Amino acid sequence: MTLQEKDSQYLWHPYTQHKTSQTPIAISRGEGALLWDENNKEYIDAIASWWVNPFGHSNKFIADAIYKQLTTLEHVLFGGFTHEPAIKVAEKLMEILPKNQQKIFFSDNGSTAVEVAIKVALQYFFNKNEKRTTIIAFENAFHGDTFAAMAASGISFYTQAFQGMFIDVVRIPVPVKGEEETSFKALKNAIENHNCAGFIFEPLVQGAAGMVMYEPEALAKLIEICKENNVLTIADEVMTGFGKTGKTFAMDYVNADPDMICLSKALTGGTIPMAITTFTQEVFDAFYDDDINKALFHGHTFTANPTGCAAALASMELLETDEMQANIQRINKSHLEFQKKIENHPKVATARTLGVVFAVEIKSNSEESYYGSMRTRLYNFFIENGVVLRPVGNIVYILPPYIMTDQQLQKVYRTIEEAIEMV
Ligand SMILES: *Cc1c(COP(=O)(O)O)cnc(C)c1O
Repeated sequence: MTLQEKDSQYLWHPYTQHKTSQTPIAISRGEGALLWDENNKEYIDAIASWWVNPFGHSNKFIADAIYKQLTTLEHVLFGGFTHEPAIKVAEKLMEILPKNQQKIFFSDNGSTAVEVAIKVALQYFFNKNEKRTTIIAFENAFHGDTFAAMAASGISFYTQAFQGMFIDVVRIPVPVKGEEETSFKALKNAIENHNCAGFIFEPLVQGAAGMVMYEPEALAKLIEICKENNVLTIADEVMTGFGKTGKTFAMDYVNADPDMICLSKALTGGTIPMAITTFTQEVFDAFYDDDINKALFHGHTFTANPTGCAAALASMELLETDEMQANIQRINKSHLEFQKKIENHPKVATARTLGVVFAVEIKSNSEESYYGSMRTRLYNFFIENGVVLRPVGNIVYILPPYIMTDQQLQKVYRTIEEAIEMV
């Protein structure tokens, strides 16, 4: 049996209708921005394997750090024990995160980082004997697939089977250009009419919505409104973190600090699943008590896995190098040039860029659904041409590894231009 035949016998893939979808491509090797399948066909990974891989596949520097850690201390439970890699990760994050972040909590993936943040927001008020049980979130948000994260997510595609089973969430519009006042008003309304504990948002870029972008000034204003009303703010930087927006964190653009930050995806350079939720001292202090019931009773078996921590440390070291910072700037410049070239194309509705994130919206007559027919034609065209891109409906976005060469980038752009002609 081929790998594809065995796959269809045993495996269940994410976001996949197995009856109608094509068999998955079996990848056997990766290096830099490239992937090769079992027949040695080459693909450019233009979305960094779901946004996790800034430094390239099979990165030697991170691999060495992982090997060293695996042969020193691969894992130890984090309940009642600690270790140097976790402490070093904390020290490093304290250096680079907004200064008000003082405590870090480890988990395993973006959804759990969000789950922890939402539970902390709810228990924060429970511990203070204040009844606040509603979470505020943006329309079309994506925060992950566990229950609280799903509740906060607004893309109905992912959550429709579970409506009615969620914690209370009120949704407000994203403050995209021209909609800022509507968004501010909706937030004030939500706070007035509900017992709001927290406001969760993807700062500046809503990834899964199709790289929807909005301005830092608008986000600062929303955070300010929350602060005035003692509503905790949660920045979900799972996608935006570690350089994607051109700064280390999207919140570095924003003139207001959140109470909590969620990190995952690029945290370990795309090697080992790991996530972190960070908190202000004030949030932590609401759990610090003689009463054991006020503690945060949340944990995962692999919390603060030392091997993951070693990968995160190596990864953060790479991010800080002049070479990587220059790569981010180079890709940003290149994206802006491509945007200028393509945004007036008759078939293009809009194009946008922030850091290494680029998105182009193709005009379409009907409302394109997430996995609609245009999306399928685009996706298949890209794969045939050896470029990994996963359009969201009629939106094609690029989120490349920072080490992607100019030549590879140009091929990605060319393929997108051809695709626009084709659809
Ligand atoms: C991907 C993502 C998540 C979920 O992360 P998983 O690791 O897939 O659970 C949460 N929030 C944002 C903004 C994301 O992009």
